[in-house]
Amino acid sequence: MSESPDVTPPVVPFAAPDVGEAEIDAVVEALRSGWLTTGPRAAAFETEFAEFLRTQAGAHAAGGAEAVVPDEVHAVALNSATAGLHLALEAIGVGPGDEVLVPTWTFTSTAEVVRYLGADPVIVDVTDDLLLDLDAARAALTPRTRAVMPVHLAGLPVDRAGVAALAADAGISVVEDAAHGFPALSSGIPIGLGASEAVVFSFYATKTMTTGEGGMVVTHDADLARRIRTMRLHGISRDVFDRYSTPGAGWAYEIVAPGYKYNLTDPAAAMGRVQLRRAVAMRDRRRAIADRYDEAFADLPVELPPREHREDDLHAWHLYVLRLGEDAPLDREAFVARLGEEGIGASVHFIPLHRHPYWRKTYGLDAAAYPVAERHFPHVVSLPLSSGLTDAQVERVVDVVRRTLGGR
Ligand SMILES: *Cc1c(COP(=O)(O)O)cnc(C)c1O
Repeated sequence: MSESPDVTPPVVPFAAPDVGEAEIDAVVEALRSGWLTTGPRAAAFETEFAEFLRTQAGAHAAGGAEAVVPDEVHAVALNSATAGLHLALEAIGVGPGDEVLVPTWTFTSTAEVVRYLGADPVIVDVTDDLLLDLDAARAALTPRTRAVMPVHLAGLPVDRAGVAALAADAGISVVEDAAHGFPALSSGIPIGLGASEAVVFSFYATKTMTTGEGGMVVTHDADLARRIRTMRLHGISRDVFDRYSTPGAGWAYEIVAPGYKYNLTDPAAAMGRVQLRRAVAMRDRRRAIADRYDEAFADLPVELPPREHREDDLHAWHLYVLRLGEDAPLDREAFVARLGEEGIGASVHFIPLHRHPYWRKTYGLDAAAYPVAERHFPHVVSLPLSSGLTDAQVERVVDVVRRTLGGR
């Protein structure tokens, strides 16, 4: 047996899950309990999620100022953020003939849920920080516009006050796609609280906290929350857990609408409750990794990810989106391939909606209408960013990126 001189380089997955023994124990406990579907753990997860947001508001209230918390915070757990976006739009009454403003720089979920309801997404350009361009959104308003769906891309908070002003002027609703936005703050207020009709979080496997698959809608509107609770489970007027916990009337329910099957299971909620307790520590770890990348790449031919630009904003750091400069020694495709050869997972977030055949053909979209997205798209690359990365993995990414881009 010959000794290999090469040490296998550590592989750095693009989205390393950060799930430990506590999550595993919680899921096992849920399985042993016999509640395999939506039950007490899902209900507790909702209460604790709302409480977490309130606590964040208190923790970040500026020097002695009152924490800005709406009187009511309703959190409704679902089996995905896509389900949450769908039901939020349904609950505010979006339907055929309506238009909803969506940034081109997002995942297809944001726009597809508008189609579920027979309405039309109006896809608008972004600013240089890859967030919805509020001027472009204003220019796209029509008498049919019913809502706007800003996306906290990568975890960078949108200008929520600007969105709220646009919505108030136009008389439309706001549904925030916060799939990347947990836990983050916009102007000192946690994303999830604030004036928007609904804010939707994702607990997909790669997101900042996970239940494998899952999502949460947060709203200050009790009627909206009630409608979403009804529609997430077949349009039944009371959920399974309530039925079983009401003595004597376990069999009784009413169907009040043709609903959906969007409920979150208890084993998934059990995992979410543990992740929630770790959410601040996980965010701090991701921020530390982003800081390390920024410092290590400052002299390279790249543009670093945009940082918070309003006081009291706080980035969730779901993604680290680097942009290769015109003077980089290789293009994005070659760069991603090179990282792959070195065992480093990289990705692209996102291919703008207007570039996908379905959206382009259905709405006759012309790339010329998206000059900012078109300018940035060829250059963006997402590097590994997860609280599950070790220091050695982070340094491996730093080393390979620096070597590949000609850093000394
Ligand atoms: C992941 C994601 C979604 C969908 O989340 P799911 O929980 O997988 O449905 C929606 N919007 C954006 C921007 C996302 O990245």
